[in-house]
Amino acid sequence: MHVLRSRWVGFLLAATWLIASPADASPRTYIKSICLSPEILEVDLLEVFTLPVGCELIDCCPGCPAADALDWRIRIGGKSVEAATLSFEGLADPAALKVEGAAEHTPDGATLMRGRSRLLNLTLPEQGRVPLAGLRLRLDPDFLGHAAGSGRRDETLDVVEVSIEQMLGSVAVNEFLLRYRLKSCGVLEPCDVVKQQGKQGADDSVVLLDGRDGADVCVNDEVRRGVTSTLVGNVKTKGSCTSSIVGVFSRDNAMAMLEDPPWTDTCGDEVAAALGPAWDMPVNLWLGKMIFVPDPGPIATQDLLAANALYDENKVGIAFVEKQRKQIPTDPGTLAKVALACQGLGGLESAGLYVKDQLNVYYGPVTVTGQSCDDRNMVLVGPAANNTTLAHELGHALSLHGGELEWGHSNDVPGMTPANIMWVGDSKIRTHFSLGQAFRFNVNKLSMLNKNGPRQGPERDCPPKPSETAPEPDFECPGLALDWSRP
Ligand SMILES: [Zn+2]
Repeated sequence: MHVLRSRWVGFLLAATWLIASPADASPRTYIKSICLSPEILEVDLLEVFTLPVGCELIDCCPGCPAADALDWRIRIGGKSVEAATLSFEGLADPAALKVEGAAEHTPDGATLMRGRSRLLNLTLPEQGRVPLAGLRLRLDPDFLGHAAGSGRRDETLDVVEVSIEQMLGSVAVNEFLLRYRLKSCGVLEPCDVVKQQGKQGADDSVVLLDGRDGADVCVNDEVRRGVTSTLVGNVKTKGSCTSSIVGVFSRDNAMAMLEDPPWTDTCGDEVAAALGPAWDMPVNLWLGKMIFVPDPGPIATQDLLAANALYDENKVGIAFVEKQRKQIPTDPGTLAKVALACQGLGGLESAGLYVKDQLNVYYGPVTVTGQSCDDRNMVLVGPAANNTTLAHELGHALSLHGGELEWGHSNDVPGMTPANIMWVGDSKIRTHFSLGQAFRFNVNKLSMLNKNGPRQGPERDCPPKPSETAPEPDFECPGLALDWSRP
């Protein structure tokens, strides 16, 4: 993300992750920067990461024997942190977990105090899903009170470090270093306001801003929060700035996008963002027999529910609505048409297995886990899919698409983690769309939301992935990894 110096740096500024590429014998390092406000008491330090099984991870110990249990050596430092919680999922024998040092047992893991602690006997299943751990920081409220009343904007207030060494006996098989920088948000004086109208939920909406600030600086990708009303400092007329927008993202409403909002150069402006209902995207489900799955109907129902929940939690503002579901005939000719669906749809449309200008999802005898065709209204889901595959493929349909940019996959994009739904490969649980992705789903010309017609509104042409020809920052498009702090 690329914040120019401005008065807008928010009370709840989005978090930025940098993942240092793993080097030999050095820990995989995650760096997060966040501006501190009195409202933040808990922060997901790393939403989810995988415990290694043997040497599955890139920087896992080469040549080490396969493990059935690991011990973690943990060190937590930083004056703003009160404690951290670690929650495990998928351990073979959760009851076998023991804690030592500055730690306490909890039902699903441990609470870790500042200092050193050890978690012993993290048991790995012989097969199946890799266990996962979620790490959450609890900040010291006294430190927050102190920090909120002082500090220049962007001044570093504290650095929290969590180091985790995963030990197999006396050998470190994997190491993480999580470094968390707390910065001051600065104090924002009352001046201009964004007011949301027609808000359906009670969630803390995310307000995205570009424009000219009180100091005549063109600001880009500022993220602010507010249930219905958000202070934004002084925002002036666009002037010579490239972009002046207000975008509002919330759980149950469509994204509101205002271009060149009616700001004036003086304080006291109230810009109204009208929030309509979430955009409905019709989905046609075409259900064919799959290997081991004679009736994919229940799976399709679950996948659609899961996709809607994920898009909702990430405030995308798009709802996928089942229009119809139909069995795919089992004759070899039709099955072949489905298996080769991405090579051309002529056959499917005339066979009554395709609806133009709507999403068509095929569960069938395909070899892929999931695929989004060049005709982005077509998505294939295969028998090896998991419960986030459909949400992932729909992300491609909503403009994260294009072979030359690796399909908009979030791997290797600075600031992204394996929790991102567009991450492929070593991700077991994907829960997250970034704000940069949600913006593209809504606003990109190539998003089927715009091409199919449900949405009418300002459009942009933001690449599915930063590249040499389309580097970030870019005033037209928020950074792909631009994000907001959950919840
Ligand atoms: Zn993909």
